[in-house]
Amino acid sequence: MVKDLSDYEIQYIKGVGPRRAALLKRLNIRNVRDAMFYLPYRYEDRRNIKKIRDINSGFLQTVVGKVIAAEVIDLPHSRHKIFELTVSDGSGLIKGKWFNQPFMKKRFKIGQEVVLSGVVKYGYRGIGLEMDNPEYEFASDDEDALIHTARIVPVYRATENLSCRQLRNIIFNVLKTHLHEVTDPVPEDILRRNNLPGLAESIMNSHFPQADIDVDSLNNWRTDYQRRLSFDELFMLELGLAILKKGKSRQKGIEFNAKGTLVEKLLRMLPFSLTSAQKRAFNEVLKDMRSPYPMHRLIQGDVGSGKTVVALMAVLVAAECGYQSAFMAPTEILAEQHYINIHRLVEDLGLKICLLTGSVKDRPLDEIASGKIDLVVGTHALIQESVRFEKLGLIVIDEQHRFGVMQRAVLRKKALNPDVLIMTATPIPRTLAMTLYGDLDCSVIDELPPGRTPVKTMLFKQSEKKQIYEAIASEVRKGGQVYVVYPVIEGSEKVNLKSAIMGKEALEKVFPDMTVALIHGRMKPQERESVMADFKDGKIDILVSTTVIEVGVDVPNASMMLIVHAERFGLSQLHQLRGRVGRGNRQSSCLLLAYEPLGEEARRRLDVMTRTTDGFRIAEEDLDIRGPGEFLGTRQSGMPDLSIANLVRDSMMIEPARTEAFSLIEQDPELKNFPALKASLERFWHGKIEIFKTG
Ligand code: ADP
Ligand code: MG
Repeated sequence: MVKDLSDYEIQYIKGVGPRRAALLKRLNIRNVRDAMFYLPYRYEDRRNIKKIRDINSGFLQTVVGKVIAAEVIDLPHSRHKIFELTVSDGSGLIKGKWFNQPFMKKRFKIGQEVVLSGVVKYGYRGIGLEMDNPEYEFASDDEDALIHTARIVPVYRATENLSCRQLRNIIFNVLKTHLHEVTDPVPEDILRRNNLPGLAESIMNSHFPQADIDVDSLNNWRTDYQRRLSFDELFMLELGLAILKKGKSRQKGIEFNAKGTLVEKLLRMLPFSLTSAQKRAFNEVLKDMRSPYPMHRLIQGDVGSGKTVVALMAVLVAAECGYQSAFMAPTEILAEQHYINIHRLVEDLGLKICLLTGSVKDRPLDEIASGKIDLVVGTHALIQESVRFEKLGLIVIDEQHRFGVMQRAVLRKKALNPDVLIMTATPIPRTLAMTLYGDLDCSVIDELPPGRTPVKTMLFKQSEKKQIYEAIASEVRKGGQVYVVYPVIEGSEKVNLKSAIMGKEALEKVFPDMTVALIHGRMKPQERESVMADFKDGKIDILVSTTVIEVGVDVPNASMMLIVHAERFGLSQLHQLRGRVGRGNRQSSCLLLAYEPLGEEARRRLDVMTRTTDGFRIAEEDLDIRGPGEFLGTRQSGMPDLSIANLVRDSMMIEPARTEAFSLIEQDPELKNFPALKASLERFWHGKIEIFKTG
């Protein structure tokens, strides 16, 4: 049995030992393999060795010379000491200074040749040249031992009691003793097609780059060696997704053989005709539903693009074949909204629908279990609780960007391979969708229903409240309705924010002749329902709310939204909120009221909001502002962590990695001919999903 690199404990590497091994564990370095993939976060160019007489103050410079003095100096009037090393290279003198490290003296001998690398400055009163805390190294050892100076030097994230310099030594020793044992798991033709160098040389050059490599490229992670390491992670990720997807497509599902009578009836009942994007998406859904394999499809479409109708059509296909559907939303209020919006249509088509959320009292569990009810609308609890269906054929998950690969796997176990349709209104950049939803088929509704005019967005300061009130008054006079959104329900001493409750009172005073109502998450569902119904019927002019209306709420006559404390909201949240207006033919507007002082990020978010209404562009900006970790958040749950690849920086490599992975799995679904690759893959996905067992 060949030893794997992870079988070598780090403790036994030269210069480590048990104490440092414990420190390295904090950096998640337990073995040789971990150390090899603990990559520098930046590189310093210390290649250019200069004569002391030629060096410039204020710059990072490297010099080589002989030690001519090494002494500890007591600072006057204090207990501090400075260790001073004086070095000469024949052209001049320079001093290295180390504060409070008297023990350094022991390390240097007069006449010894050293390399110093550091930022140069002038000494006291402008006399002489100095470096504070320079990197140092003895030139007398064999040449390739120069790892801290006179080369491109890797800089690692260190930890308490373990310096970057010590880490550099340890990693150097790891590479020296074990690099030759690195085997390359990626098939050669894949490397060739993508112009990627071998693994061992890529590891070496990502730590200790050859002299001729461009430091800027290194610092931007653009060298072929670094790209290769990122590629590997993306490739592993995509291989896993390819296997998951392949496994699913081999499962047996329901073949829905609907004629389409119910769908046709629905289309005749609707006051509009479908956009071509909706038709395309539905045809893709229909094809999946008719196939004997379970559907796992994602519909991506911006807010207001009309995803719900498409989902409803899928429900009708299932119903026509005698199957029940579950329609799940992330919040109670959204489930209620869906129920309100569709129950009349559904009942007119002769189907039975019910709402099932935590706060619904009379739960028609028996009717669900006996199959009398065709469509159950509810929250996720719907599938988690012990609700039993007679014949569950379709699960629709709305607005569910928080659903990871893992949860989807759990979901599949709940029923007999029902078809699953996921709808998301959080547009994510395509490359990201490819990985996040990599195990799903994807339909995109990239067209808004006709007659929509983009929402005008304007930014206001605190001092401009009067203009805001005037805008609201004139909108209501023209027959429009207004949402006013607050970040919190109630004010508190701790956070100095305007609250929805205060806001409602204030607005009632400003607009005594208008109907102002309040809706928030702490109200009883029946109260909320009746407020929403009144708003929909036009009985309410101004609806004050919290973010409970963030997703799914659909009142086409609402044509203005004021977001108070807009600086407090995230970009995708602002976009979702704004999506509540501009849903009818009326020119709509969104007023962002921001309270000073604004942070840099808040300013950028608000600026993006006023510049564009395109959800995909907003998502890209959001990703850029927040970085991938934050952006993905829990959405990524179930996915293996990427420690090297960065989905933004390395985005251009996602597609090639995916293409290669999917075609390899097509060829050799169990990687029988690629044992090394299979082993790496299992390690990469370890504990996430037993990828080779699904299917
Ligand atoms: P989404 O869920 O994608 O945000 P909805 O499904 O809630 O969007 O649809 C938004 C609004 O547009 C609803 O009022 C819906 O009735 C309407 N709608 C959907 N499709 C069309 C269409 N093709 N033409 C006109 N209006 C449509
Ligand atoms: Mg929706």
